Amino acid sequence: MIKRLLIANRGEIAVRIIRTCRELGIETVAVYSTADRDALHTRLADIAVCIGPPKSAQSYLSVGAIITTAVRTGCEAVHPGVGFLSENSNFAREVQKAGLIWIGPDPETIDLLGDKVTARETALKYGLPVTPGSPGPIATKDEAIPVARACGYPVIIKAASGGGGKGMRIVWKDEELEENLKIASREAEANFADGTVYIEKYLQNPRHVELQVIADGKGGVAILGERDCSVQKNHQKLIEESPSPGVTPEMRKRMSEGARNLFSSLKYRGAGTIEFLAVGNEFFFMEVNARIQVEHPVSEFVTGTDLIREQILVCCGEHWTIDPDNITLTGWSIEARINALSPGKVTRLEVPGGPGVRFDSFLYNGATVSPHYDSMVGKLIVHDSDRHRALERLLRALDELKIEGVPVNIVTQKKILSNAVFRSGQFGTGIYAQLEASL
Ligand code: ADP
Repeated sequence: MIKRLLIANRGEIAVRIIRTCRELGIETVAVYSTADRDALHTRLADIAVCIGPPKSAQSYLSVGAIITTAVRTGCEAVHPGVGFLSENSNFAREVQKAGLIWIGPDPETIDLLGDKVTARETALKYGLPVTPGSPGPIATKDEAIPVARACGYPVIIKAASGGGGKGMRIVWKDEELEENLKIASREAEANFADGTVYIEKYLQNPRHVELQVIADGKGGVAILGERDCSVQKNHQKLIEESPSPGVTPEMRKRMSEGARNLFSSLKYRGAGTIEFLAVGNEFFFMEVNARIQVEHPVSEFVTGTDLIREQILVCCGEHWTIDPDNITLTGWSIEARINALSPGKVTRLEVPGGPGVRFDSFLYNGATVSPHYDSMVGKLIVHDSDRHRALERLLRALDELKIEGVPVNIVTQKKILSNAVFRSGQFGTGIYAQLEASL
């Protein structure tokens, strides 16, 4: 087993990775920006190295500084976490060129799946249904009109390299196509340095359902159930749960078969997620995220697995400790993302506890929430025997969670979790917009 690993990330995910590494007996090297001198990941790692100023482009996205640090500190592997460089195939290549293990799939696999246009083609090849849409990129209004008409309005223009809900525009008629193509492409160029966009049918109020996958790089694939991430604000996830209240055993079976086929054929290695939009019993492939995801803990709870551990094991060529043919889902798990509404310093923190409660966060009393990074400061995750009980538990835990000095979204989360539509389980990605006025 490897002895030392560098974490090319910050925040709660860096802390999460350090925890598993410690249990595995792997020493960790944290990298940090000058804004994160006192951050929890900096404090918890065995070694911490400053790699630049607060701006991510000069620190957490600095490929050269990160790889140099990994080599100098004698690391054998690099874990990219989520966001930042986690799906950057160039970074993965540089890591491997430096003789280090990349905790993720091969750079070629990242390339194949990272572009949504090629990912759709790949999914189709392995028998997964995709939303009706353009077979390839769309550049002009004249290309767009026949595609949009064939799909039927509304359609959605999406960035091929998109992520985090950016570079998406919904279009309702021919006349709106030209301008929205330009806007989406400009936004895509600005955010992902790739202005390529394509068109899909815009499904109304679908469920966002995704499968957690771990694969051994040799064709072995474990599917660890699904997550429902339909509660989204501006296409960004707020609440996630496993299992999904809208997925039947028959759907789960069909989705899993398609996913298994795809990941196995690609000889995928590590953790990954395959995302679908579901309408009734139908589902459509959306994308693959070739990394661990923020919402992985709900799958850990229902499957009794440490996904970071399994991810590191398979990527380091060790045996995983799960039996891919014997994954059982127990009970119900729900996660509420805790987001800071503005930056600041935590003056008081009380963390909930008790059975089936987990709080993954980088906060501590006196911690700083910097304006330079993502607003998510933690995730409160619960597990219980069924959905109703898990909901009650999450509400109870949210009551116990006290954060002062930095305003957070606890009240909003409680309102959503208490809402009758959310509680009925019968909702889609439109739920946040429907509730917004009452939040
Ligand atoms: P990102 O990579 O930016 O997260 P995704 O492709 O995963 O983008 O889509 C994010 C969210 O946007 C989905 O969960 C869904 O709510 C919405 N969305 C994307 N494509 C469609 C579509 N064709 N119809 C309806 N909603 C969509």
